[in-house]
Amino acid sequence: MDIEFPLFKTKIEDSPKFDLTDAKERQKYFELKAGEDIKKLREYLKEHSFIAYLLGKKNSGKGTYAKMLKEVVDKDNIEHFSVGDMIREVDKELQDENKKKELIEFLEKNYRGFTPLKEIIASLENRSTSKLLPSELILALAKREIAKKGGKSLFIDGFPRELDQVSYSLFFRDLVNYREDPDIFVLINVPEAVIDERIKYRVICPICQTSRSLKLLPTKDIEHEDGKFYLLCDNSECKGARMVKKEGDELGIEPIKDRLKLDGSLIIKAFDLHGVPKVLLRNSIPVKKAEEFVNDYEITPEYVYEYKNEKVEMTEKPWQVKDDNGEDCYSLMPPPVVVSLIKQLVEVLGI
Ligand SMILES: [Zn+2]
Repeated sequence: MDIEFPLFKTKIEDSPKFDLTDAKERQKYFELKAGEDIKKLREYLKEHSFIAYLLGKKNSGKGTYAKMLKEVVDKDNIEHFSVGDMIREVDKELQDENKKKELIEFLEKNYRGFTPLKEIIASLENRSTSKLLPSELILALAKREIAKKGGKSLFIDGFPRELDQVSYSLFFRDLVNYREDPDIFVLINVPEAVIDERIKYRVICPICQTSRSLKLLPTKDIEHEDGKFYLLCDNSECKGARMVKKEGDELGIEPIKDRLKLDGSLIIKAFDLHGVPKVLLRNSIPVKKAEEFVNDYEITPEYVYEYKNEKVEMTEKPWQVKDDNGEDCYSLMPPPVVVSLIKQLVEVLGI
């Protein structure tokens, strides 16, 4: 079964052109396109909170949308909570004898599950085996982490991650003492071709590890050699270092196909849940609908290079890919997707 993600209209006739990569212009853009709804959400957040589960395929940029919404709506009352980051923090705690002791004490009190705690600690310490961490452990750790956040609204990223965890999420707000707060599934549709090209064209600086994309996010200076183009790191400390591809990235989504498939099943399973409101976001717009639904500057550009008169010339054009049904579509910049998120949140929260 495929879920129909409805198109969302963000187009305003006679809208001025905004540079959506610029934070200040972005703020004006949001004011124009969702100003009233942003006010409503801010009012709501003063007295209430919500829990939203972000569900999208791996590398679909889930966190980007939540972080942008936080930046635009309310930096103080919204948190982006990444389960992946939490696990990485736990890894660090285990390196520190005192913190490790505290962690184990916490788990002895709070962890209940089928795998013995000793085994869990061992598998945490030895992640090379990359054994799947049991859901009961993730829940106990999430509870500890969320308790530190003092009742803020949460965008949870990375849970549910397995099919059995979808049912856990039904009771999650009780577990973390957010009982009275609404919970919402935010389902994100991103064509696999978008994920594929993001991986294939990404490059990193070998010195400062900054990440860019030859196709989607170039640097100021670009070098040409033997018919190929290279980005040079913008960071002055790196003295124009040539950015490089990470090994394996040329394979695109090939190595993560199974994960993408599972993520797709998770989205469908969450969609089928009754009693939990859903927000449906889409990253792409069919080419033939673009004119009607979005302003030009809301479409993600791709950059094309040419070597002319001993100089690299860069031009941009709308980034076009095939969506999962083989239809030609454009990928949207994050801000119009966040406008859609804001408006749907206002609706499902009934404000
Ligand atoms: Zn650098």
